[in-house]
This record gives sequence, structure tokens and C-alpha cells, in this order.
Amino acid sequence: MAVHIDGWSVVPQYRKCGKGNCKVCHTGKGHGPYYYGTRLQNGKRCSKYFGQSLPDTQDDTQDEIRPLQQELAEAKRLIAVLQAENATLRKQLQPTSVRAAEELSQADVEQIWARVVKNAGDMSENVLQTAYSSLIRGLFGKGNTYTRLHTGRGGRPYVCPFRGPRFRYKDPVRLVETAAKWIIINEQIRQDNKAELRKKREAIERYGTLI
Ligand SMILES: [Zn+2]
Repeated sequence: MAVHIDGWSVVPQYRKCGKGNCKVCHTGKGHGPYYYGTRLQNGKRCSKYFGQSLPDTQDDTQDEIRPLQQELAEAKRLIAVLQAENATLRKQLQPTSVRAAEELSQADVEQIWARVVKNAGDMSENVLQTAYSSLIRGLFGKGNTYTRLHTGRGGRPYVCPFRGPRFRYKDPVRLVETAAKWIIINEQIRQDNKAELRKKREAIERYGTLI
């Protein structure tokens, strides 16, 4: 491709030297590149030798490349900064995702609940419903996907959110099983007490005037 310098159309050329035993001419295009320019002068086609390189145009290219190289270096630097930030964020996120894997979903808890209810014997539907609501509310709060029971350290890191830090477990399933039973019994007692109180109140209302 021709390069235009001061009206000259400059192209690289290769020349054969004419020596019979020249390896360069024998195996390749010849010697070069040598830059020759051509242009029309007063209707005549003229030629001019420009040397073995084109320093002017190469410098122009360098001038164009330099800002791009700087931009590239800046972009690389930004990428490195972002990658470092990304790595930090990933590290910060990791404990949560690892924890989520050890925690229970609502489906897991439903399975445990079904097992506990099956073994609980005769319980009123009202007791079971209220107990189940309490269990789910205590385990998942405002719509968490997973429980957050892994709040302690050591061999028993799963801490019961219903009964407090003294009740620690090796695994969350055991925790939920025990907590579910405890909640059912408590709800049964609460409803029994309520019924007892209501009976007393009714008795007082009925016979109170006699005393
Ligand atoms: Zn040669």
C-alpha cells in the first residue's frame, strides 16, 4: 500500500542485485525494502528514493498509538482494580453461601415437621397450626430462604432461636426436631391454661354472687 509524503506516492520495493550466487535474491523477493516515491511533475512521471525506512510516517503512527497505549494501560489498571474488588466481594459473600448450604430451607423444615407431628400422637389441629406458625416465623423471620441457626462456634454451632444460647446442636435438623416438639408442648400448655382460666372465669361469673 502506498504512503503519501509531500505529494509523493511512496511504496516499498525489493531489488535483485544481479549477483548469481546471492542467497537473498535466490530465495526471496530480493534486497529491501527500499522506499521509492513517484509523482507526476510537469506531466512527467518522476521517481525519488526515500531510504530503507519511513521515519516520518512511522513517527506519525507512534504519535497516534501513544495515547491509545496510555488508554490501554489505564484500562488494564482499572481492570486489575475491579478484579481485586471482585475478589474481595466474593470472599465476603462466601461465608453466607457456605452457611446457606448447611442451613435448612422451608421444604426441609416441613419434612422435619411432618415427622415430628406423626410421632406427637393426638394433638388438636389448633395447637399444631399455631405451633407451626411460631416455628416458621422463628426460623425464617421476614421471608428468609434459609434458616440462620449457625450462629455459634465449636462442635455445637447451631443455636436454638427459641430456647436461647444454652441449647446448642451439632446439626440443624436435630435442633428443629427438638424445637418443634418443645413449641408444640408449650402451645398445648398455653391453650390448656387458657381453657382452664376461661372455665374459672365462667365459674366465678356463675357462682360469684353466691359467695
Ligand atoms: Zn542479491
